Amino acid sequence: MVDKKYVYLFREGSAGMKNLLGGKGANLAEMTNIGLSVPQGFTITTEACLEYYEEGEQLPEGLWEQILPAIRDVEDQSGKKFGDPQNPLLVSVRSGARISMPGMMDTILNLGLNPDTANGVSEATGNPRFAHDCYRRFIQMFGDVVLGISSHKFENILEDVKDKQGVRYDSELSPESLQELVLEFKKLVKQETGVPFPDDPYEQLRQAITAVFKSWNNHRAIVYRKANGIPDSYGTAVNVQSMVFGNMGNDSGTGVAFTRNPSTGERHLYGEYLMNAQGEDVVAGIRTPQPIDSLQSENPAIYQQFCDIAALLENHYRNMQDIEFTIEKGRLYILQTRNGKCTASAAIRIAVELCQEGLITKEEAVERIDPQQLDKLLHRRIDDQAKLDVIATGLPASPGAASGKIVFDADDAQRLGEDGQKVILVGTETTPDDIHGMLAAQGILTSRGGMTSHAAVVARHMGKPAVCGCDALKINLAEKTMTVNDIVYTESSEITIDGATGQVIRGSVPMKDPELSDEFQTILKWADEIRTMQVMANADNPPDAAKSREFGAQGIGLCRTEHMFMDPARLPIVQKMILAQTLPEREAALAELLPMQESDFYGILKAMQGLKVTIRLLDPPLHEFLPDGEELAMEIQKLKLTADLNDSKVQEAIKSKESLLKKVRALQEMNPMLGHRGCRLAITFPEIYAMQNRAIFQAAARLVKEGVDVYPYVKIPLVIHHKELEILRQQADEIAQEVMKEQGVTINYKVGTMIETPRAALTADEIAPYADFFSFGTNDLTQTVLGFSRDDAEGKFLPDYINAKVLEVNPFAVLDRDGVGRIMKTCVGAGRKANPDIKIGICGEHGGDPASIAFCQEINLDYVSCSPFRVPIARLAAAQAALKVKSK
Ligand code: ADP
Ligand code: MG
Ligand code: MG
Repeated sequence: MVDKKYVYLFREGSAGMKNLLGGKGANLAEMTNIGLSVPQGFTITTEACLEYYEEGEQLPEGLWEQILPAIRDVEDQSGKKFGDPQNPLLVSVRSGARISMPGMMDTILNLGLNPDTANGVSEATGNPRFAHDCYRRFIQMFGDVVLGISSHKFENILEDVKDKQGVRYDSELSPESLQELVLEFKKLVKQETGVPFPDDPYEQLRQAITAVFKSWNNHRAIVYRKANGIPDSYGTAVNVQSMVFGNMGNDSGTGVAFTRNPSTGERHLYGEYLMNAQGEDVVAGIRTPQPIDSLQSENPAIYQQFCDIAALLENHYRNMQDIEFTIEKGRLYILQTRNGKCTASAAIRIAVELCQEGLITKEEAVERIDPQQLDKLLHRRIDDQAKLDVIATGLPASPGAASGKIVFDADDAQRLGEDGQKVILVGTETTPDDIHGMLAAQGILTSRGGMTSHAAVVARHMGKPAVCGCDALKINLAEKTMTVNDIVYTESSEITIDGATGQVIRGSVPMKDPELSDEFQTILKWADEIRTMQVMANADNPPDAAKSREFGAQGIGLCRTEHMFMDPARLPIVQKMILAQTLPEREAALAELLPMQESDFYGILKAMQGLKVTIRLLDPPLHEFLPDGEELAMEIQKLKLTADLNDSKVQEAIKSKESLLKKVRALQEMNPMLGHRGCRLAITFPEIYAMQNRAIFQAAARLVKEGVDVYPYVKIPLVIHHKELEILRQQADEIAQEVMKEQGVTINYKVGTMIETPRAALTADEIAPYADFFSFGTNDLTQTVLGFSRDDAEGKFLPDYINAKVLEVNPFAVLDRDGVGRIMKTCVGAGRKANPDIKIGICGEHGGDPASIAFCQEINLDYVSCSPFRVPIARLAAAQAALKVKSK
């Protein structure tokens, strides 16, 4: 048997090997092979990590035997030797999963140091300060990451030593102080672990590799995976790489840069660096770094070299790159590159411009935009007219605006967030341990750290507003206060942050709906060229209809009529209709409603001229329009106890309330969702739908006469049997004919049905001959197929089902393909067979969910319909679904 290959030298890998080598390892290999200056090393595969867990947290057999020759190779290339006191090789040990998880896993720098090799470094470089600085950093990192000793304990010692020497910054420490620090750190390790700090570099390496494997399952990595839908089964690779040093003096430094601006997408090198510093110093947000533009004046040659490499990498990967670099004594090394994470608006601008620059096709541009991310673009920002009490300004780290109460602790943020409260997480900086709090908060505000600090990177990725490096804030975490210009803000204070301008504002402020940028319009236009399904909107009134049109909806797929009944001016008439004892009484009330409904439909049909408007006839149970029975009973009780019972007016009032209560009780249902609603109401009271039909067709006739192009579609809800549709369709047709004859016009109308019950779906062949269209109401269909009501499920047991992995996701958010989807597929097949001209679509909330839209494409639906604000998302998702089906 050939031994499994666990270890790949950088020159043996390539960008295509991400699954095996992780993103970082695969790209280090790729950059090595295209000739960039990358410190050499090797990658231990993700398979080795998975086997580590399979074998009960043991390094897989044969792994170590492959590591040793790999180290020899790196030694040969660097001319240094691992553990050699004269000329020691030092390495970093870096994690790197298939999908990048920024800051989620731990990196160890300067590994290979011990008293002998530290002296070796000191002599070889003639720089004892540097040697001992590396050594103390190494002990601290190793102590923290591998040995689990809290870094506060190291920091405390560091503070003591600084005090002793009387200096403020780490960089001012003398070699002697640093040496003392090393000894103190080692003492701490012995104290905490009971064993001395390992001096053998090979032992250090073994422990470090094990620690990276273990970090795959640390708390913050698990939270990050859960939040981003990354499977636990991927594992992480480990990269062992020879060190280069940005902390060798003022001709050395380290930095991070994006090839384009990750907030706006502008094509301009964007990033930060710190001179005389080692990697972690930049991303940790502890010292505030310099913008990359100033490297141009500080070191034009290196800046130019970096610009060239950035351009080369962008061309090579055909995508915006996020690059880590280190300058060692004036020489530039590239330590990492990956496709840059950026805001949704930047992603759109970058995709459009990359396409216009000829690097990618329109299809690729469309495929690259995450439709879920668009949601954030379609969110609110501060109203330009608003008067703002700006208390401070920081860096505009992640755009969008948010208001909320200040919280200083991630756990508090999570608790309050889950409680439905809006909070802004405020801190000096954030760390990967704060992820759960960041997820729960509306926005993030930090007093330190730059545009590439942890808070900024993670917030942009989450699409949350963030303001960073706002140093006017004096934050006191112990007392949970924030002071700005001598004003103290406590945990209950409300603030607003604007991540687009960096402003921090007192109180909450009015927000405004978003508009689509030119690039956004371009991407959507390309998506429209590609997609095959139509995208319609769910809209109940003329303003929503107008918004839908603006967002590119091709019609209204669901116009609910119940909201029109709820209007306070109409409710009494609706109640009169419901409470009517006789048909003439009911018809009188309906006659009062008719002109009102007609004007509703007139408005919507006009707003959507040229496009179809699908109007669903009354759907909810009638008791929804009546007062609550309990409250009514209380009112009666109160009258009886307090009012003058001899007063005839009081008697009258009690009598009428009692008769109302009787009706409310009579209409009360054990299970309203499965009760007297939808078309069942119309079988009992045909006059209700008759009025609605008349209102629709009279409105349409008026508009036709005015020369407006209208397409009313009548949609019958909750059908279970073809006979229902046969009866109700005939009613609609008759009224349409009547109105057309009365008005002397022709109306282009259609009649169809919702498919919301298993029986309707399963007997689609019987129903289809009576329907011009089917519209899956997937909210109700999910309820009826799964047999539980959404409100009860989501409020009570659905979270348990998801935790216990019975269900992977909420089936009311993402269509349940295997159950509901299977029934839909059957329905589509049978319906089309019985009526080849039938148009089939979906109008539940799933119509705006990209995964559900992909399924609709797979089963060949003609359209999806969703809320107006999700229309752009649906247009893009439909294009992506079409591309995916085409590529199969
Ligand atoms: P992360 O995935 O959290 O970014 P990295 O493995 O990229 O972690 O490393 C953290 C920091 O250490 C980065 O700034 C990186 O550039 C730096 N670094 C990693 N390896 C080396 C090395 N061999 N020489 C110098 N700096 C390094
Ligand atoms: Mg990195
Ligand atoms: Mg329904």
